[in-house]
Amino acid sequence: MTQAPHSRTSSAGQRPFILDPVFRALSVLPGIGPKTSTAVERLVGGSRVMDLLWHAPIDLIDRSYMPSIADAEPGRIATFEVKVVAHMPNPKRGLPYKVKVENETGNLSLVFFHAHKDWIEKQLPVGKTVKISGKVEGYQGRLQIVHPDYIAASGEEKAIPKAEPIYPLTHGVSNKVVIKAMQTALEFAPNLTEWNDAALIKRHNWPAWKEALLKLHHPESAPDLEKDTAFRERLAYDEFLANQLSLALARHKQKKKGGRSFQIKGDYRTQLERALPFTLTNAQNVVLSEIDADMAAPLKMMRLIQGDVGSGKTIVAALSMMSALDSGAQAALMAPTEILARQHMETLTPLLEPLGIQPVLLTGRLTAKEKRDLYAKIASGQVRLVIGTHALFQAKVDFADLGVAVIDEQHRFGVHQRILLSSKGQGTDVLVMTATPIPRTLALTAYGDMDVSRITEKPPGREPIDTRLIPADKIEEMIAGLKRQIAAGARVYWVCPLVEESEVLDLTAAEERFQVLESIFGARVGLVHGRMKGPDKDKVMDDFASGNIDILVATTVIEVGVNVPEATIMVIEESNRFGLAQLHQLRGRVGRGGDKSYCFLLYKTPLGETAKERLLTMRDTEDGFIIAEKDMTLRGSGDILGTKQSGMPEFQIADVEAHGHLLPIASDDAKLIVMNDPDLQSKRGKRLRELLYLFQADKAIRYLKAG
Ligand code: ADP
Ligand code: MG
Repeated sequence: MTQAPHSRTSSAGQRPFILDPVFRALSVLPGIGPKTSTAVERLVGGSRVMDLLWHAPIDLIDRSYMPSIADAEPGRIATFEVKVVAHMPNPKRGLPYKVKVENETGNLSLVFFHAHKDWIEKQLPVGKTVKISGKVEGYQGRLQIVHPDYIAASGEEKAIPKAEPIYPLTHGVSNKVVIKAMQTALEFAPNLTEWNDAALIKRHNWPAWKEALLKLHHPESAPDLEKDTAFRERLAYDEFLANQLSLALARHKQKKKGGRSFQIKGDYRTQLERALPFTLTNAQNVVLSEIDADMAAPLKMMRLIQGDVGSGKTIVAALSMMSALDSGAQAALMAPTEILARQHMETLTPLLEPLGIQPVLLTGRLTAKEKRDLYAKIASGQVRLVIGTHALFQAKVDFADLGVAVIDEQHRFGVHQRILLSSKGQGTDVLVMTATPIPRTLALTAYGDMDVSRITEKPPGREPIDTRLIPADKIEEMIAGLKRQIAAGARVYWVCPLVEESEVLDLTAAEERFQVLESIFGARVGLVHGRMKGPDKDKVMDDFASGNIDILVATTVIEVGVNVPEATIMVIEESNRFGLAQLHQLRGRVGRGGDKSYCFLLYKTPLGETAKERLLTMRDTEDGFIIAEKDMTLRGSGDILGTKQSGMPEFQIADVEAHGHLLPIASDDAKLIVMNDPDLQSKRGKRLRELLYLFQADKAIRYLKAG
């Protein structure tokens, strides 16, 4: 995927020399050998010095506590000035070597296990005054420090820092290792010329980049660890700016390519609209007119449709695709999963066939020969509308004339992927659809390159979903209830818990549940999971959609997009293990027809406070935005949507919750920069290139003109 044709390095993509030191391998740092470097790379998520520099401390050791010996509290880190009184080497193996020290306020023992006598005698000669720092302990009624962290001769007290940062660590990497490596890494960090607007810096009283970085790694007291320090805000702003700038550059490049002007009220479009078994909601109409305006204009469309589950995005996409077809161009609809692609195929085919449009399905599951045939038909233009999965990204897929690319459930794909798909045509319009209710600030970070439309209402006649929290020990009663509902015609999704980050374990749980339900409900239960072969999956899904089975036991493969309007009951086992966003998606699978629907959230007792609050949120609202905001506060933004798989950017320093107020400023700043200096050629532009590299937003560098 990264091997896009435009990824070749041009002279525009040359990293400024001044950054070379921080782009060296981590193993050049003292204390990071070949063995540790793998662990450190894992810890900091990269292999360059820069990756370490963005590894911020989360706590500190305060050595400013300097009590009298008499008052020293056991358990605390303390620093004392003392005189060495006597050495008590212990001849017996396994017993420690002790050194007695004192000052006018009392005395204590320094304790060394496996001590080297010579070293101790050199460090702590009898009669000398030294400064020591370490954790004070009480032992047999006396105070002692086992292996002091620091011993400094008088005159060298500066060697004892007032405070030391504590970093997030991983197996095989101690705090000492990080601190030591960081010291050199910070020396490598160059003094860079300011890239930010002087007025902005002044208004916030922000330090320069290097100074901010030094402060980040030298917290002196607890307040320095807060998110709202000037230095952290500055670095967060930098990171937002790098993010927004790379999106703005991507957007500029796309827009510059130019788009094409489509005919928007042609025959296909009119006929399809007329053939719909329902009237569009106001919200759908509004969004459609925004899309129409984009498609009619000779500019490239880059639009995101955000609409809660069940708000009817698919039909909006289908109508938009008609405009491309009416103008003689092709259209593609891409879904993140095979099931979903197939489902789009099944929904759209009966609507399109009467108009003489035969959509085709392109997924990884086709045989080599089927694929070859299809590629040929796509390339010749014989196929007008393609529905598919990632397989559409393949280099071999070559469209005769791709007018519009629709990407469904975007949160599984990233910025660069959507650019890749749109680059399959000349000025291809791009329409992205997501059901993920992304809070506004986050939307800026992920979709800053797109215009956003929102479908703000659902089709009429939907009854609210009755959501109930059910303790696991009431499962029998619930099943009895299901029996009655099924007898009355209900269809049930039964989602099994995420046991671990392991598909195998998920599967076992799902299989066990399937057997139990089968023993109760007989052959009218089906099982679908990610490990199944495609055709087997299809068969079960079809059986469920057509009513051959009443209960579909599933791992989370059904999460995204599946539409079986007759299904009215959603059971989620160990629902507390799921993220709120995920629960919302899952629940959105029911309540799609006119019938009253239920969602049963099973949980094991006892339930923690946060878990309880999350489930109560689910019970009390169906509004995806409220749920997303709640999710963000309960989780502290960090991993709101499971960023890793979501295509949402992950920030190193910036915290969307704490620094969110800076994001719109960075966004405006980025837009202005790109408007005035789209190739970052000005003086400030050159500085900003450095910024992009520092945050490794350098993919964006490719969007700059060479030279
Ligand atoms: P989503 O936005 O979650 O992708 P879908 O596009 O799958 O939602 O639509 C959900 C269901 O609502 C489908 O069965 C669809 O046919 C139906 N639907 C869409 N628009 C309307 C409407 N305006 N009136 C009634 N039903 C609609
Ligand atoms: Mg959908």
